[in-house]
Amino acid sequence: MKGLVPQRKKIKYNQVFKNSWTEEEQFKKWIKQGKDEYFAMCRVCNKDISIKSTGRLALVRHQDSAMHIKLCRSQKKQGTLTDMVVFKGGPNQETGYPRFIQIYKYCV
Ligand SMILES: [Zn+2]
Repeated sequence: MKGLVPQRKKIKYNQVFKNSWTEEEQFKKWIKQGKDEYFAMCRVCNKDISIKSTGRLALVRHQDSAMHIKLCRSQKKQGTLTDMVVFKGGPNQETGYPRFIQIYKYCV
């Protein structure tokens, strides 16, 4: 029946900049708050990153972007590029090595 369909209210929780991010090892060298609470700013790229919809994930994506990595490399003053290796899953019974390894690049 028409008219009985409940209206879907789109409740969006906007993500805001968290100061704790500036203390995270992988972010602290390049992150600062952007023009308002919905933006972080990358000091390496000089770019505003919208965190409104994806929050911290936007930062992770940014630091892994080709542009950021390239600028990181070219700005020696900013430090060097380091691989952050994240081990996921328990060790393989036979080899003793972790099953999944994910590598992020980030500026230090
Ligand atoms: Zn950047």
